[in-house]
Amino acid sequence: MARTNRRWLLAERPTGMVGPEHFRFDQVPVESPGPGQVLVRSLWLSLDPANRAWLAPTPTYKSAVQPDEVMHGFALGRVEESGDPRLAPGDIVSGMLGWQDYATLPVAEVHKEPAGRDPRHAMGVLGVTGLTAYFGLLEVGQPKVGETVVVSAAGGAVGSIVGQLAKLAGCRVVGLAGGPEKCRWLEQELGFDVAIDYRAGNLRRAMKAACPDGIDVYFDNVGGDILATALFLMNERGRIVACGNLSQYNAERPAPGPMGVPGLVVVKRLRIEGFIVTDYYDRRAAAEAALTRLLASGQLKAVEDVVEGLEKAPATLVELFQGRNRGKLLIKVA
Ligand code: NDP
Repeated sequence: MARTNRRWLLAERPTGMVGPEHFRFDQVPVESPGPGQVLVRSLWLSLDPANRAWLAPTPTYKSAVQPDEVMHGFALGRVEESGDPRLAPGDIVSGMLGWQDYATLPVAEVHKEPAGRDPRHAMGVLGVTGLTAYFGLLEVGQPKVGETVVVSAAGGAVGSIVGQLAKLAGCRVVGLAGGPEKCRWLEQELGFDVAIDYRAGNLRRAMKAACPDGIDVYFDNVGGDILATALFLMNERGRIVACGNLSQYNAERPAPGPMGVPGLVVVKRLRIEGFIVTDYYDRRAAAEAALTRLLASGQLKAVEDVVEGLEKAPATLVELFQGRNRGKLLIKVA
């Protein structure tokens, strides 16, 4: 019997907050791979703030999703059929498989995962998430022992790892997260020195109290008000790691840039540096090995939030922006 591919298409481009109404579910027969292609059964789908950014009409670091196209998404799956000797049925691969049960795509567009790795770790702490935290903090942020590191979206996928790595680097670590429970969890379970509930109001006073010696490294996942506040507390020669801008991904029009740029940047000799994790992929194997060691020794905790069912992808993406997740948010597709 012909296999069916269930998939989510972009129905309509959102202008403000993304919602389930912007997607359409359909089913089509599974496509067999041609020469140089593979057919991959999706197993785990990563939900990321960037999914929303890819729905804007302008391309980001990758092309924008077009209406009636399968929603783009990073996923891990199992090769079912192969039209290329480099991959065989049963191999585990990751790549832009999209929000669907099956993807038929060129072999060159997938990455073969090492055997024996927990697939949730491959999508989280040992995948894009962990590598983003690792290279962003250590290469761009260059934290030194005794310095103060602040990270926003601290309870999320990247932030929860940044905070732990900064502690391991000997820094004082302050996280920003939504709600008292998430903050308690960051302090008690993940070892943050202080976690600030950024929704509780009076952000500037709270950040000042949490950073009596100022901020040396601000790992910015969100942009917006938190970036604006952090800028005023930066120490001379401080580094701002521009990792993401998730407070603006659903905005109809991005908020204007923060006050103090360029004034404070000049006076305090700040470095604000953006990066994309793939910039560092020539050193991917060494970073994966380092993260694997930290995980195995128990010095680093992997945190994953798993939702079952491809059909829940749109609603779960909305919940991501409402702060539902602790750590890496994944959809278990099969
Ligand atoms: P998260 O797991 O952190 O998910 C989003 C979290 O952000 C939510 O749980 C929520 O937690 C918090 N949040 C939502 N809205 C806001 C807001 N308006 N202000 C502050 N916090 C908010 O996502 P990731 O860890 O996957 O991604 C973090 C950032 O890293 C994103 O900006 C992403 O685009 C970027 N990124 C960059 C890469 C690169 O190569 N440069 C690669 C991968 C990711 P709560 O509100 O409860 O705190």
